[in-house]
Amino acid sequence: MNQADNIIVMGKSGAGKQPRVDVLIRRFGLKQLSTGDIFRTYLGLFNELGDESDLNSFYDSASDNFIPDEAIKNKLNISHWEDADAIVLGLKAKYYVNQGLFVPDHITNALFESAFQALGFRGAVLDGFPRTIDQARFLVEMIEREGIKIDAILLIENEDELIIARTVGRRICRTCGELYHVEHRPPPMPGNCEFESPKCKIIQRSDDTVRSLEARLQEFQTKTRPAIEYLQEQKIPFYSAPGNLPTYAPEAVQASVFEVMQISG
Ligand SMILES: [Zn+2]
Repeated sequence: MNQADNIIVMGKSGAGKQPRVDVLIRRFGLKQLSTGDIFRTYLGLFNELGDESDLNSFYDSASDNFIPDEAIKNKLNISHWEDADAIVLGLKAKYYVNQGLFVPDHITNALFESAFQALGFRGAVLDGFPRTIDQARFLVEMIEREGIKIDAILLIENEDELIIARTVGRRICRTCGELYHVEHRPPPMPGNCEFESPKCKIIQRSDDTVRSLEARLQEFQTKTRPAIEYLQEQKIPFYSAPGNLPTYAPEAVQASVFEVMQISG
């Protein structure tokens, strides 16, 4: 493999996807397309409007669906805007996120397609999508419809027990985002970040507690495994790489990816 248009990276939460994503980005000049970032971007587009309307007013409970997109645009006075469709998607995502509801696949699919299309369906490492079998089916349908090339799927394998042990020790600087680990990379001073801006403070993210991690690992088994099995039946080259390595030196991480995907350095 010497060049790539798009690569999908999958794996459990905490399996070690990010360092492998970074390797692929550097090697092939790709851009990370993560569902988390997509949600933040589209929610941000809607938030920038500063619209104070009750979000329920865009939802028709009688038909259990949003009011038509044109009606949403009219209410927001954005009908003539170039990014009106993207703002409507942001509104729909916010409707669920605000209520702490699970975002339905058809909304996630629409957000993903919009962001992928903005890249011309080319040059991305797909991260966090597809995560369910419906999303996987939607992606395969989109690949065929748009003539998109997916060069490879890389699954990062890791054991639940190892992920839990590693993740619960994780600490992050809430200001600069620097990552630490109580065993593998302790902060220079307890509670203090090495970049020590006055506001730097080391915390454990609420996502990194055992309970929330176990819920995500469970969801991976019930929702993402079937998506992986479905994708393995497609004609996309499928590779898996170990998430757990004897050493995490950058060269070792890179070699572990290059080796399984037969990428030359
Ligand atoms: Zn910091």
